[in-house]
Amino acid sequence: MKVVNKGLEVRLYPDEDMVQVLEQNIGNARFTWNRLLDGYQKTYSLFKQHGYTTLKCNMATFNTMLNMLKKEYSFLRLSESSSLQQVFRDLINSFNKFFKKGSGYPRFKSKRNPKQSFRIQNNNNIKFKNNVVVFPKIGPIYFRTSKEYKKILNSNDTKINNVTIKRHNGKYYAVFNVETPIEMFDKTFESVGIDLGLRTLATLSNELKKAKIDVTHENEMIKKYQRKLARKKPGSKRYKKTQQTYWKWQDKKTNKIKDAQHKISHNLAKYYDLICMENLDIKKMFENKNISNSLQNTGLASLVDKIKYKCQWNDKEFIQISRWFPSSKKCHNCGYIHHNLKDEKTWNCPKCGKHHDRDINASKNILQEGTRILREKIMNLWYRGDSTVILEALASTAREVRILEVYTSR
Ligand SMILES: [Zn+2]
Repeated sequence: MKVVNKGLEVRLYPDEDMVQVLEQNIGNARFTWNRLLDGYQKTYSLFKQHGYTTLKCNMATFNTMLNMLKKEYSFLRLSESSSLQQVFRDLINSFNKFFKKGSGYPRFKSKRNPKQSFRIQNNNNIKFKNNVVVFPKIGPIYFRTSKEYKKILNSNDTKINNVTIKRHNGKYYAVFNVETPIEMFDKTFESVGIDLGLRTLATLSNELKKAKIDVTHENEMIKKYQRKLARKKPGSKRYKKTQQTYWKWQDKKTNKIKDAQHKISHNLAKYYDLICMENLDIKKMFENKNISNSLQNTGLASLVDKIKYKCQWNDKEFIQISRWFPSSKKCHNCGYIHHNLKDEKTWNCPKCGKHHDRDINASKNILQEGTRILREKIMNLWYRGDSTVILEALASTAREVRILEVYTSR
């Protein structure tokens, strides 16, 4: 048993009165975010005039600002109280990401964004009763979800940390962030290299191929209703009706991709103890317009994320190799680097004459390189004399590495 963090998304069915309450909370959270961000910027420019280059944004500053806002705007008192504090925590996180990791500067939130949300802290005051969840100050809301999720949410071993309530494409959801024990997958002592691509979604080093997730029909319908929507008067009854259908197809597409990704990542983490992949520079790939469209269709980044966290949950080894490693150009048979290789799907090695399927060859190289990296990692632990870590590594890695360890320990 291992305790992991999970985000459980359930669909909420608020009645009309409850919709008003949720929208008030959403609106207040957005208002607070925008006001705090604006306040920070104004203070910062004042600081700059006086020669300061940085202005720290911390809890105390934002708390003071929030209390001032609450005095000025009485409607903020209608909010669930922890939700507004959550806003400045999120804003601080957002600034930290900007300063430390070079993410984008925090943006103002627009009312027109189809995604809206607010977050509340659970202080042991979120209750469940059959198919109803009761939030503090907000009240009871009917919800629906899978048996599995219901079991986790109702379990005494589950700790709910916070909940994000969101509206997306006209529907309401709650995402419960929980800590919950899971039963881990068994060890299989099998390893795999995976080549991700746009034509074939995943090629495994055991020569299995996983076709890309087909959302052609969904995309066609989305385009069709997008065109219809453009011809209607915004706000009219017909517009709203078409918008519902347009959203329905968008949701269908998202769900299809999500389900397929969950299945793939589940199976990989279940059947392999060592999973090696290329570290794709997904941000760079998005800048390339030609492939950014097909990337959004398959959502490679979120697939990698899912594989990664499922490996962590199950104590499986996940190794990402450098994207500079010539996985496609290297001949898996003799090690020759074929610099002249272009986009060919198959090729013959000029040195040893071996016929290669491009993706299978790449996946085999990825496995080999990943295993080398893992070996190095284990050897470093070995040289450090950290025997408990070695034992843990031994217990959690693939057979090939296990054999190597037995060999070196003699
Ligand atoms: Zn060769």
